[in-house]
Amino acid sequence: MNGSGVIESWDLSIGVDGPGTRFVVFTCGCPLRCLYCHNPETWRMRDGRPVTVDDLMTEIDRYRRFITVAGGGVTVSGGEPLLQPGFTAELLRRCHEIGLHTALDTSGFLGERATDAMLADTDLVLLDIKAFDVARYRRLTGGALQPTLRFARRLRDLGRPTWVRFVLVPGLTDDPDDIDAMAAFVAGLDNVEVVDVLPFHRMAAAKYERLGMRFPLAGVEPPDQALLDRVRGQFRAHGVQSR
Ligand code: SF4
Repeated sequence: MNGSGVIESWDLSIGVDGPGTRFVVFTCGCPLRCLYCHNPETWRMRDGRPVTVDDLMTEIDRYRRFITVAGGGVTVSGGEPLLQPGFTAELLRRCHEIGLHTALDTSGFLGERATDAMLADTDLVLLDIKAFDVARYRRLTGGALQPTLRFARRLRDLGRPTWVRFVLVPGLTDDPDDIDAMAAFVAGLDNVEVVDVLPFHRMAAAKYERLGMRFPLAGVEPPDQALLDRVRGQFRAHGVQSR
């Protein structure tokens, strides 16, 4: 339903959810189950709390000056915001109307639910491409890769500024051929400003324990600097900015 939705929480963040200081809304519900997910508490809609866009705008207004001066804005994240497309669209529209920079953080799996109007109200898309090999993507997320690639091409056709995000997990997402193929694909998307290679970490392990869940990657080490450099170098070799 437009005008209201279900969220896990909101928070302020710096540097990871778009430019500047962000007011980040974590929506509830996600159709994927990524092995490295840091937000398993957002998976199920029924675990969230209902909220209206009006309530959120009141909250956002309290920080408006602060986030504007800090070159930031509002990011709708999750969970998967496109599971609640009406709510997400209205939130982005209302923020855009008052001149705030808006970002949408999505896996792209439900990209077809994003209308062109919603994307016009989105100044930046943070698009997670979690792997490029179809079987690996499914093993990692439980879902299909193709919708994300379709969404990526649509964002290019619409000229929407996009940051691609890629979580690097040793032994899971570090296959050189897979990364080369992804880099070649991204090189064809002239709307992509940068690929953020995000090192896997295990900080969510305690959260899983609290929720009585098993963290599937508990035994996996974070990538070392050499691996991070190699992967960023692979993107750069295709002419793609990477950090
Ligand atoms: S898409 Fe995001 S929220 Fe959903 S399972 Fe994957 S990492 Fe977690």
